[in-house]
Amino acid sequence: MDRPSLPPQGRPEAEVLDDLKRFGQNDPDYRNHRIWSLVYHLDDAHDDFTAAAYRQYSSANGLNPAAFQSLKRMESEIVAMVATLLHGGPETCGVLTAGGTESCLMAVKTYRDMARKRRGVHRPNMAIPATAHVAWFKAAEYFGVTPRLLPMTADLATDVTRLNRKIDRNTVMVLGSAPEYPHGTIDAIAAMGKTAARRHVPLHIDACVGGMILPFMAMNGADLPEWDFRVPGVTSISTDLHKYGYTSKGASLILYRNLDLLKYQMFVYQDWPGGVFASPALLGTRPGGAYASAWAVMQKLGIQGYRDLAAQTTEAVEILKAGIANIDGLRILGHPQGPLLSFGSTESAVSIFAVADQLETKGWSVNRVQNPDGIHAMVTARHREVTEHYLSDLAQAVATVRADPKLARIGGAATYGMMAHVPLRGMVRAKVLDVFAEMYRAGGGKLRLDNRPRPPVPERLMARYAQWKARRS
Ligand SMILES: *Cc1c(COP(=O)(O)O)cnc(C)c1O
Repeated sequence: MDRPSLPPQGRPEAEVLDDLKRFGQNDPDYRNHRIWSLVYHLDDAHDDFTAAAYRQYSSANGLNPAAFQSLKRMESEIVAMVATLLHGGPETCGVLTAGGTESCLMAVKTYRDMARKRRGVHRPNMAIPATAHVAWFKAAEYFGVTPRLLPMTADLATDVTRLNRKIDRNTVMVLGSAPEYPHGTIDAIAAMGKTAARRHVPLHIDACVGGMILPFMAMNGADLPEWDFRVPGVTSISTDLHKYGYTSKGASLILYRNLDLLKYQMFVYQDWPGGVFASPALLGTRPGGAYASAWAVMQKLGIQGYRDLAAQTTEAVEILKAGIANIDGLRILGHPQGPLLSFGSTESAVSIFAVADQLETKGWSVNRVQNPDGIHAMVTARHREVTEHYLSDLAQAVATVRADPKLARIGGAATYGMMAHVPLRGMVRAKVLDVFAEMYRAGGGKLRLDNRPRPPVPERLMARYAQWKARRS
Protein backbone atom coordinates (compact mmCIF):
# COMPACT_ATOMS: atom_id res chain seq x y z
CA MET A 1 0.00 0.00 0.00
CA ASP A 2 1.22 3.47 -0.82
CA ARG A 3 2.06 5.54 2.17
CA PRO A 4 -0.72 8.12 2.56
CA SER A 5 0.42 11.65 1.96
CA LEU A 6 -1.24 15.00 2.35
CA PRO A 7 -3.36 15.66 -0.77
CA PRO A 8 -1.46 18.12 -2.97
CA GLN A 9 -4.64 20.16 -3.38
CA GLY A 10 -7.36 20.40 -0.80
CA ARG A 11 -10.46 18.22 -1.30
CA PRO A 12 -14.15 19.19 -1.22
CA GLU A 13 -15.58 19.17 2.30
CA ALA A 14 -18.51 16.89 1.41
CA GLU A 15 -16.19 14.26 -0.03
CA VAL A 16 -13.98 14.34 3.07
CA LEU A 17 -16.97 13.98 5.39
CA ASP A 18 -18.17 11.02 3.31
CA ASP A 19 -14.79 9.40 3.82
CA LEU A 20 -15.15 9.75 7.57
CA LYS A 21 -18.54 8.09 7.46
CA ARG A 22 -17.13 5.21 5.41
CA PHE A 23 -14.14 4.71 7.76
CA GLY A 24 -16.57 3.98 10.61
CA GLN A 25 -18.48 1.22 8.84
CA ASN A 26 -16.74 -1.58 10.75
CA ASP A 27 -16.58 0.21 14.08
CA PRO A 28 -18.54 -1.13 17.06
CA ASP A 29 -22.25 -0.55 16.55
CA TYR A 30 -22.75 1.86 19.44
CA ARG A 31 -25.81 3.54 17.90
CA ASN A 32 -27.66 0.26 18.42
CA HIS A 33 -26.10 -0.15 21.88
CA ARG A 34 -24.25 -3.32 20.90
CA ILE A 35 -21.03 -2.37 22.65
CA TRP A 36 -20.60 -2.83 26.42
CA SER A 37 -17.66 -0.49 26.99
CA LEU A 38 -15.96 2.65 25.71
CA VAL A 39 -19.08 4.48 24.56
CA TYR A 40 -21.83 6.23 26.56
CA HIS A 41 -24.29 7.05 23.84
CA LEU A 42 -27.82 8.33 24.17
CA ASP A 43 -29.05 9.13 20.66
CA ASP A 44 -28.21 11.16 17.58
CA ALA A 45 -30.16 14.19 18.80
CA HIS A 46 -28.03 14.27 21.94
CA ASP A 47 -24.88 13.95 19.81
CA ASP A 48 -26.07 16.92 17.72
CA PHE A 49 -26.51 18.94 20.90
CA THR A 50 -23.07 18.06 22.33
CA ALA A 51 -21.52 18.79 18.93
CA ALA A 52 -23.26 22.17 18.71
CA ALA A 53 -21.95 23.12 22.16
CA TYR A 54 -18.50 21.77 21.29
CA ARG A 55 -18.41 23.69 18.01
CA GLN A 56 -18.94 27.04 19.72
CA TYR A 57 -15.73 26.58 21.68
CA SER A 58 -13.71 24.14 19.58
CA SER A 59 -11.04 26.77 18.93
CA ALA A 60 -11.07 28.16 22.46
CA ASN A 61 -8.17 27.20 24.69
CA GLY A 62 -8.30 26.70 28.44
CA LEU A 63 -4.50 26.80 28.75
CA ASN A 64 -4.49 30.21 30.34
CA PRO A 65 -7.56 30.45 32.56
CA ALA A 66 -7.23 34.23 32.59
CA ALA A 67 -7.60 34.50 28.79
CA PHE A 68 -10.85 32.67 28.05
CA GLN A 69 -12.96 33.73 30.97
CA SER A 70 -15.88 31.88 29.42
CA LEU A 71 -14.01 28.61 29.87
CA LYS A 72 -12.92 29.45 33.41
CA ARG A 73 -16.53 30.20 34.23
CA MET A 74 -17.67 26.84 32.82
CA GLU A 75 -14.87 25.07 34.68
CA SER A 76 -15.76 26.74 37.99
CA GLU A 77 -19.46 25.99 37.55
CA ILE A 78 -18.84 22.35 36.63
CA VAL A 79 -16.53 21.96 39.64
CA ALA A 80 -19.15 23.51 41.92
CA MET A 81 -22.01 21.40 40.53
CA VAL A 82 -20.12 18.13 40.96
CA ALA A 83 -18.68 19.16 44.35
CA THR A 84 -22.26 19.62 45.57
CA LEU A 85 -23.32 16.23 44.21
CA LEU A 86 -20.40 14.60 46.01
CA HIS A 87 -21.14 16.41 49.29
CA GLY A 88 -18.07 18.63 49.22
CA GLY A 89 -17.80 21.51 51.66
CA PRO A 90 -17.43 25.23 50.99
CA GLU A 91 -13.71 24.82 50.32
CA THR A 92 -13.99 21.93 47.86
CA CYS A 93 -12.18 22.95 44.68
CA GLY A 94 -10.99 21.24 41.53
CA VAL A 95 -9.76 21.25 37.97
CA LEU A 96 -11.24 20.00 34.70
CA THR A 97 -9.01 17.47 32.97
CA ALA A 98 -9.21 15.76 29.61
CA GLY A 99 -10.03 12.32 31.01
CA GLY A 100 -10.00 9.94 33.93
CA THR A 101 -6.42 8.96 33.37
CA GLU A 102 -5.29 12.57 33.60
CA SER A 103 -7.30 12.97 36.82
CA CYS A 104 -5.72 9.85 38.35
CA LEU A 105 -2.22 10.83 37.24
CA MET A 106 -2.69 14.23 38.84
CA ALA A 107 -3.68 12.76 42.21
CA VAL A 108 -0.51 10.67 42.34
CA LYS A 109 1.67 13.60 41.33
CA THR A 110 -0.01 15.87 43.87
CA TYR A 111 0.38 13.52 46.82
CA ARG A 112 3.91 12.49 45.85
CA ASP A 113 4.97 16.15 45.76
CA MET A 114 3.08 16.96 48.94
CA ALA A 115 4.82 14.16 50.86
CA ARG A 116 8.19 15.21 49.49
CA LYS A 117 7.69 18.84 50.48
CA ARG A 118 6.00 18.33 53.85
CA ARG A 119 7.70 15.16 55.06
CA GLY A 120 10.83 14.73 52.93
CA VAL A 121 9.61 11.46 51.36
CA HIS A 122 11.95 10.45 48.53
CA ARG A 123 11.02 6.80 48.03
CA PRO A 124 7.27 7.17 47.71
CA ASN A 125 4.77 4.32 47.75
CA MET A 126 0.97 4.21 47.67
CA ALA A 127 -1.52 1.65 48.93
CA ILE A 128 -3.98 0.79 46.14
CA PRO A 129 -6.47 -2.05 45.67
CA ALA A 130 -5.48 -4.85 43.28
CA THR A 131 -8.67 -3.89 41.43
CA ALA A 132 -7.59 -0.25 41.00
CA HIS A 133 -8.01 1.00 37.45
CA VAL A 134 -4.96 0.50 35.27
CA ALA A 135 -4.52 4.29 35.17
CA TRP A 136 -3.10 3.99 38.71
CA PHE A 137 -0.46 1.54 37.55
CA LYS A 138 0.37 3.92 34.75
CA ALA A 139 0.66 6.78 37.26
CA ALA A 140 2.89 4.61 39.47
CA GLU A 141 5.21 3.98 36.54
CA TYR A 142 5.21 7.54 35.24
CA PHE A 143 5.79 9.20 38.61
CA GLY A 144 8.00 6.62 40.31
CA VAL A 145 5.59 5.78 43.13
CA THR A 146 5.69 2.10 44.14
CA PRO A 147 2.22 0.53 44.28
CA ARG A 148 1.49 -1.61 47.36
CA LEU A 149 -1.45 -3.79 46.47
CA LEU A 150 -4.38 -4.47 48.74
CA PRO A 151 -5.43 -8.00 47.80
CA MET A 152 -8.95 -9.16 47.04
CA THR A 153 -10.97 -11.27 49.46
CA ALA A 154 -12.49 -14.54 48.24
CA ASP A 155 -15.58 -12.66 47.05
CA LEU A 156 -13.46 -10.15 45.12
CA ALA A 157 -13.79 -7.21 47.52
CA THR A 158 -10.76 -5.17 48.51
CA ASP A 159 -9.37 -6.56 51.77
CA VAL A 160 -9.25 -3.36 53.82
CA THR A 161 -8.07 -5.20 56.92
CA ARG A 162 -4.67 -5.23 55.20
CA LEU A 163 -4.55 -1.47 54.69
CA ASN A 164 -2.96 -0.45 57.98
CA ARG A 165 0.04 -2.72 57.42
CA LYS A 166 0.59 -1.39 53.90
CA ILE A 167 1.14 2.14 55.20
CA ASP A 168 4.57 3.28 56.33
CA ARG A 169 6.35 6.64 56.53
CA ASN A 170 6.91 6.64 52.75
CA THR A 171 3.24 6.13 51.89
CA VAL A 172 2.04 9.21 50.05
CA MET A 173 -1.59 8.21 49.45
CA VAL A 174 -4.24 5.54 49.76
CA LEU A 175 -6.79 4.75 47.05
CA GLY A 176 -10.35 3.50 47.10
CA SER A 177 -12.67 3.00 44.10
CA ALA A 178 -16.36 3.81 43.77
CA PRO A 179 -16.80 1.49 42.05
CA GLU A 180 -13.78 -0.41 40.76
CA TYR A 181 -13.74 -1.20 37.05
CA PRO A 182 -13.23 -5.00 36.95
CA HIS A 183 -16.36 -6.03 38.93
CA GLY A 184 -18.26 -2.87 39.81
CA THR A 185 -17.70 -3.28 43.56
CA ILE A 186 -17.59 -0.18 45.77
CA ASP A 187 -14.63 -0.43 48.16
CA ALA A 188 -15.23 -0.12 51.91
CA ILE A 189 -14.47 3.60 51.81
CA ALA A 190 -15.60 4.35 55.39
CA ALA A 191 -13.09 1.83 56.79
CA MET A 192 -10.36 3.11 54.47
CA GLY A 193 -11.11 6.68 55.55
CA LYS A 194 -10.70 5.77 59.22
CA THR A 195 -7.32 4.15 58.68
CA ALA A 196 -6.07 6.86 56.33
CA ALA A 197 -7.09 9.65 58.73
CA ARG A 198 -5.54 7.91 61.73
CA ARG A 199 -2.27 7.44 59.82
CA HIS A 200 -2.41 10.99 58.36
CA VAL A 201 -2.27 9.78 54.77
CA PRO A 202 -4.48 11.31 52.03
CA LEU A 203 -7.27 9.12 50.65
CA HIS A 204 -8.26 9.56 47.01
CA ILE A 205 -11.49 8.05 45.68
CA ASP A 206 -11.49 6.99 42.06
CA ALA A 207 -15.08 7.64 41.03
CA CYS A 208 -14.19 8.09 37.38
CA VAL A 209 -16.94 5.70 36.39
CA GLY A 210 -19.24 6.15 39.39
CA GLY A 211 -19.15 9.86 40.12
CA MET A 212 -21.88 10.89 37.70
CA ILE A 213 -24.25 8.00 38.39
CA LEU A 214 -23.96 6.76 41.99
CA PRO A 215 -25.35 10.03 43.45
CA PHE A 216 -28.40 9.75 41.19
CA MET A 217 -28.86 6.05 41.95
CA ALA A 218 -28.85 7.04 45.64
CA MET A 219 -31.43 9.80 45.02
CA ASN A 220 -33.56 7.14 43.32
CA GLY A 221 -33.45 5.10 46.51
CA ALA A 222 -30.54 2.69 45.94
CA ASP A 223 -28.99 1.51 49.18
CA LEU A 224 -25.35 2.44 48.64
CA PRO A 225 -22.57 2.90 51.18
CA GLU A 226 -21.18 6.42 51.63
CA TRP A 227 -18.05 6.90 49.57
CA ASP A 228 -17.70 10.64 48.84
CA PHE A 229 -16.66 13.75 50.80
CA ARG A 230 -19.10 12.74 53.54
CA VAL A 231 -16.53 10.17 54.62
CA PRO A 232 -13.93 11.76 56.91
CA GLY A 233 -10.48 11.05 55.57
CA VAL A 234 -11.43 11.38 51.90
CA THR A 235 -9.22 14.16 50.54
CA SER A 236 -9.91 14.04 46.80
CA ILE A 237 -12.17 12.43 44.18
CA SER A 238 -11.83 11.90 40.44
CA THR A 239 -15.02 11.82 38.37
CA ASP A 240 -15.35 11.50 34.61
CA LEU A 241 -17.92 13.57 32.78
CA HIS A 242 -17.41 11.73 29.50
CA LYS A 243 -18.74 8.48 30.98
CA TYR A 244 -22.03 8.68 32.92
CA GLY A 245 -22.09 12.45 32.49
CA TYR A 246 -22.91 11.67 28.83
CA THR A 247 -20.73 14.54 27.56
CA SER A 248 -18.32 14.61 24.62
CA LYS A 249 -15.06 12.77 25.09
CA GLY A 250 -12.35 14.78 26.78
CA ALA A 251 -13.86 15.84 30.11
CA SER A 252 -13.12 14.67 33.62
CA LEU A 253 -12.64 16.31 37.01
CA ILE A 254 -10.36 16.09 39.99
CA LEU A 255 -11.79 17.57 43.18
CA TYR A 256 -9.88 18.28 46.40
CA ARG A 257 -11.24 18.91 49.87
CA ASN A 258 -9.36 22.22 49.93
CA LEU A 259 -6.92 24.41 48.06
CA ASP A 260 -3.93 23.47 50.28
CA LEU A 261 -4.01 20.06 48.59
CA LEU A 262 -4.74 21.27 45.05
CA LYS A 263 -1.76 23.62 45.18
CA TYR A 264 0.61 20.64 44.96
CA GLN A 265 -0.93 19.75 41.60
CA MET A 266 -0.03 23.07 40.01
CA PHE A 267 3.00 23.69 37.86
CA VAL A 268 4.78 27.02 37.62
CA TYR A 269 7.94 27.88 35.69
CA GLN A 270 8.99 31.48 35.98
CA ASP A 271 12.17 31.52 33.82
CA TRP A 272 10.91 30.24 30.46
CA PRO A 273 11.94 32.49 27.55
CA GLY A 274 8.36 32.07 26.31
CA GLY A 275 7.10 33.83 29.41
CA VAL A 276 6.20 33.05 33.00
CA PHE A 277 4.08 29.89 32.81
CA ALA A 278 1.56 28.28 35.13
CA SER A 279 -0.76 25.35 34.55
CA PRO A 280 -3.23 23.53 36.79
CA ALA A 281 -2.97 19.99 35.36
CA LEU A 282 -1.15 17.81 32.83
CA LEU A 283 -2.19 19.36 29.53
CA GLY A 284 -0.94 22.56 27.97
CA THR A 285 -3.64 23.46 25.47
CA ARG A 286 -6.94 22.46 27.05
CA PRO A 287 -9.93 21.66 24.82
CA GLY A 288 -12.55 24.39 25.15
CA GLY A 289 -15.05 22.36 23.16
CA ALA A 290 -15.04 19.56 25.71
CA TYR A 291 -15.70 22.02 28.55
CA ALA A 292 -18.55 23.69 26.68
CA SER A 293 -20.08 20.34 25.82
CA ALA A 294 -19.83 19.17 29.44
CA TRP A 295 -21.37 22.35 30.82
CA ALA A 296 -24.14 22.28 28.21
CA VAL A 297 -25.08 18.64 28.82
CA MET A 298 -25.23 19.19 32.58
CA GLN A 299 -27.58 22.14 32.01
CA LYS A 300 -29.69 20.22 29.53
CA LEU A 301 -30.14 17.13 31.71
CA GLY A 302 -30.23 18.59 35.20
CA ILE A 303 -30.75 16.45 38.28
CA GLN A 304 -34.00 14.97 36.98
CA GLY A 305 -32.45 14.06 33.62
CA TYR A 306 -29.56 12.25 35.30
CA ARG A 307 -31.94 10.53 37.72
CA ASP A 308 -34.02 9.25 34.79
CA LEU A 309 -30.92 7.94 33.03
CA ALA A 310 -29.72 6.34 36.26
CA ALA A 311 -33.12 4.67 36.71
CA GLN A 312 -32.99 3.19 33.20
CA THR A 313 -29.44 2.01 33.83
CA THR A 314 -30.39 0.41 37.15
CA GLU A 315 -33.29 -1.37 35.48
CA ALA A 316 -31.00 -2.71 32.77
CA VAL A 317 -28.44 -3.84 35.38
CA GLU A 318 -31.10 -5.64 37.43
CA ILE A 319 -32.48 -7.43 34.37
CA LEU A 320 -28.95 -8.48 33.38
CA LYS A 321 -28.12 -9.70 36.88
CA ALA A 322 -31.30 -11.76 37.09
CA GLY A 323 -30.90 -13.05 33.53
CA ILE A 324 -27.30 -14.10 34.05
CA ALA A 325 -28.16 -15.85 37.32
CA ASN A 326 -30.78 -17.79 35.34
CA ILE A 327 -28.32 -19.13 32.78
CA ASP A 328 -26.80 -22.43 33.90
CA GLY A 329 -23.04 -22.24 34.00
CA LEU A 330 -22.73 -18.50 34.64
CA ARG A 331 -22.30 -16.43 37.78
CA ILE A 332 -21.87 -12.75 38.57
CA LEU A 333 -18.37 -11.92 39.84
CA GLY A 334 -18.20 -10.19 43.22
CA HIS A 335 -20.93 -7.82 44.39
CA PRO A 336 -21.48 -5.12 41.79
CA GLN A 337 -23.47 -2.21 43.21
CA GLY A 338 -23.13 0.40 40.50
CA PRO A 339 -23.79 0.50 36.77
CA LEU A 340 -21.38 -2.22 35.67
CA LEU A 341 -20.80 -5.90 36.27
CA SER A 342 -18.78 -8.91 35.21
CA PHE A 343 -19.74 -12.54 35.00
CA GLY A 344 -17.78 -15.76 34.75
CA SER A 345 -18.32 -19.44 34.28
CA THR A 346 -19.09 -22.01 36.98
CA GLU A 347 -18.29 -25.04 34.81
CA SER A 348 -15.01 -26.11 33.28
CA ALA A 349 -17.02 -27.14 30.19
CA VAL A 350 -17.97 -23.50 29.64
CA SER A 351 -15.00 -21.33 28.72
CA ILE A 352 -16.15 -17.78 29.34
CA PHE A 353 -13.71 -16.45 26.75
CA ALA A 354 -15.26 -18.80 24.18
CA VAL A 355 -18.66 -17.42 25.18
CA ALA A 356 -17.27 -13.94 24.52
CA ASP A 357 -16.18 -15.07 21.04
CA GLN A 358 -19.70 -16.37 20.36
CA LEU A 359 -21.23 -13.06 21.45
CA GLU A 360 -18.94 -11.28 19.05
CA THR A 361 -20.00 -13.45 16.15
CA LYS A 362 -23.54 -12.27 17.00
CA GLY A 363 -22.45 -8.64 16.64
CA TRP A 364 -21.86 -7.68 20.30
CA SER A 365 -18.62 -6.02 21.39
CA VAL A 366 -17.56 -7.17 24.86
CA ASN A 367 -14.52 -6.80 27.10
CA ARG A 368 -12.82 -9.63 28.96
CA VAL A 369 -11.53 -9.53 32.53
CA GLN A 370 -9.05 -11.96 34.11
CA ASN A 371 -8.23 -13.52 37.50
CA PRO A 372 -10.99 -14.64 37.63
CA ASP A 373 -11.92 -14.78 33.95
CA GLY A 374 -15.06 -13.03 32.93
CA ILE A 375 -17.05 -10.92 30.51
CA HIS A 376 -17.49 -7.28 31.42
CA ALA A 377 -20.52 -5.06 30.87
CA MET A 378 -20.49 -1.30 31.35
CA VAL A 379 -24.25 -0.74 31.32
CA THR A 380 -25.69 2.56 30.11
CA ALA A 381 -29.24 3.89 30.09
CA ARG A 382 -29.93 2.87 26.51
CA HIS A 383 -28.81 -0.71 27.08
CA ARG A 384 -32.24 -1.14 28.63
CA GLU A 385 -33.55 -1.59 25.06
CA VAL A 386 -31.23 -4.49 24.26
CA THR A 387 -30.93 -6.42 27.54
CA GLU A 388 -33.43 -9.13 26.54
CA HIS A 389 -31.78 -9.60 23.17
CA TYR A 390 -28.34 -9.72 24.78
CA LEU A 391 -29.46 -12.28 27.37
CA SER A 392 -30.98 -14.57 24.76
CA ASP A 393 -27.81 -14.38 22.65
CA LEU A 394 -25.79 -15.04 25.80
CA ALA A 395 -27.81 -18.15 26.68
CA GLN A 396 -27.32 -19.43 23.14
CA ALA A 397 -23.61 -18.67 23.27
CA VAL A 398 -23.24 -20.70 26.47
CA ALA A 399 -25.11 -23.63 24.90
CA THR A 400 -22.93 -23.48 21.79
CA VAL A 401 -19.73 -23.48 23.84
CA ARG A 402 -20.88 -26.30 26.10
CA ALA A 403 -21.70 -28.43 23.04
CA ASP A 404 -18.36 -27.82 21.36
CA PRO A 405 -15.34 -27.95 23.72
CA LYS A 406 -12.90 -27.18 20.93
CA LEU A 407 -14.21 -23.58 20.84
CA ALA A 408 -12.21 -23.01 24.03
CA ARG A 409 -8.97 -23.79 22.20
CA ILE A 410 -9.32 -21.57 19.15
CA GLY A 411 -9.72 -17.91 18.27
CA GLY A 412 -9.95 -15.31 20.97
CA ALA A 413 -10.60 -17.91 23.67
CA ALA A 414 -7.15 -19.43 23.07
CA THR A 415 -5.36 -16.09 22.93
CA TYR A 416 -7.10 -14.54 25.92
CA GLY A 417 -6.89 -17.78 27.89
CA MET A 418 -3.17 -17.84 27.34
CA MET A 419 -2.71 -14.16 28.09
CA ALA A 420 -4.64 -14.54 31.34
CA HIS A 421 -3.07 -17.78 32.54
CA VAL A 422 0.38 -18.41 31.22
CA PRO A 423 2.55 -18.07 34.33
CA LEU A 424 5.32 -16.29 32.43
CA ARG A 425 3.96 -12.79 32.87
CA GLY A 426 7.08 -11.17 31.46
CA MET A 427 6.57 -13.05 28.20
CA VAL A 428 2.95 -11.97 28.01
CA ARG A 429 4.03 -8.40 28.57
CA ALA A 430 6.71 -8.61 25.88
CA LYS A 431 4.28 -10.20 23.43
CA VAL A 432 1.59 -7.60 23.98
CA LEU A 433 4.18 -4.86 23.62
CA ASP A 434 5.22 -6.39 20.28
CA VAL A 435 1.66 -6.55 19.02
CA PHE A 436 0.96 -3.04 20.19
CA ALA A 437 4.15 -1.61 18.77
CA GLU A 438 3.38 -3.33 15.47
CA MET A 439 0.16 -1.29 15.25
CA TYR A 440 2.29 1.82 15.45
CA ARG A 441 4.96 0.82 12.97
CA ALA A 442 5.18 3.30 10.11
CA GLY A 443 2.49 2.26 7.63
CA GLY A 444 0.87 -0.04 10.24
CA GLY A 445 -2.41 0.35 12.07
CA LYS A 446 -4.29 -2.77 11.08
CA LEU A 447 -3.45 -5.37 13.76
CA ARG A 448 -6.07 -5.48 16.50
CA LEU A 449 -6.04 -7.03 19.94
CA ASP A 450 -9.75 -7.82 19.88
CA ASN A 451 -12.04 -9.83 17.67
CA ARG A 452 -10.34 -9.24 14.31
CA PRO A 453 -7.79 -11.66 12.88
CA ARG A 454 -5.19 -12.35 15.49
CA PRO A 455 -1.43 -12.24 15.16
CA PRO A 456 0.18 -15.64 15.72
CA VAL A 457 1.21 -16.43 19.27
CA PRO A 458 4.91 -17.37 19.40
CA GLU A 459 5.40 -21.15 19.47
CA ARG A 460 7.59 -21.08 22.52
CA LEU A 461 4.96 -19.27 24.54
CA MET A 462 2.21 -21.60 23.29
CA ALA A 463 4.32 -24.63 24.24
CA ARG A 464 4.98 -23.32 27.76
CA TYR A 465 1.26 -22.65 28.14
CA ALA A 466 0.40 -26.19 26.99
CA GLN A 467 2.91 -27.66 29.48
CA TRP A 468 1.50 -25.57 32.27
CA LYS A 469 -2.08 -26.59 31.44
CA ALA A 470 -1.09 -30.26 31.28
CA ARG A 471 0.54 -30.04 34.72
CA ARG A 472 -2.57 -28.39 36.15
CA SER A 473 -5.06 -30.99 34.93
C1 LIG B 1 -12.51 4.88 32.99
C2 LIG B 1 -11.82 4.84 34.31
C3 LIG B 1 -10.61 5.53 34.51
C4 LIG B 1 -9.84 6.17 33.40
O1 LIG B 1 -10.57 7.09 32.70
P1 LIG B 1 -10.28 7.46 31.17
O2 LIG B 1 -11.23 8.55 30.93
O3 LIG B 1 -10.53 6.24 30.37
O4 LIG B 1 -8.85 7.90 31.07
C5 LIG B 1 -10.09 5.52 35.79
N1 LIG B 1 -10.70 4.85 36.79
C6 LIG B 1 -11.84 4.17 36.63
C7 LIG B 1 -12.46 3.45 37.79
C8 LIG B 1 -12.44 4.12 35.37
O5 LIG B 1 -13.56 3.40 35.18
